[in-house]
Amino acid sequence: MGLEQQLEIPVLTTSVEKMVQWARRSAIWPVTFGLACCAIEMMAMSCSRYDVARFGAEVFRASPRQADLMIVAGRLSRKMAPVLRRIYDQMPEPKWVISMGACASVGGVFDNYAIVQGVDQVVPVDVFVPGCPPRPESLIYGIVQLQKKINETRI
Ligand code: SF4
Repeated sequence: MGLEQQLEIPVLTTSVEKMVQWARRSAIWPVTFGLACCAIEMMAMSCSRYDVARFGAEVFRASPRQADLMIVAGRLSRKMAPVLRRIYDQMPEPKWVISMGACASVGGVFDNYAIVQGVDQVVPVDVFVPGCPPRPESLIYGIVQLQKKINETRI
């Protein structure tokens, strides 16, 4: 007699690794970290029109201790860089970073001494989302790319 007949309920078998990957990619919690105009598009993404909840990533957390994704949305000033790094360090592992927009990724139009020319100089970046600003759909696409990356991460 098969397992399903013995238990009289449907049974799904999988590996622990696949289950952990599924859980991690399906409940990404971003830390609140809007720095400039890109943050407006990030907020729009979490509202009903774009509804990032469809991808399990709508629960923005004010505490880095409860977050596993940092979306750097906007230009990063040199004064702000140590703060960003400290918040990143306070996030528990595993954690990921999305660099949103031209300013966060390469400094954008702010090619000057006050702006960090790429947030990857301060924290490791998993996904870069281009644009000035990227539309909410672009950021959702970035989150889907991150989910694929999480799914391929060996435990
Ligand atoms: S990329 Fe454009 S929209 Fe985003 S922070 Fe820079 S100037 Fe603002």
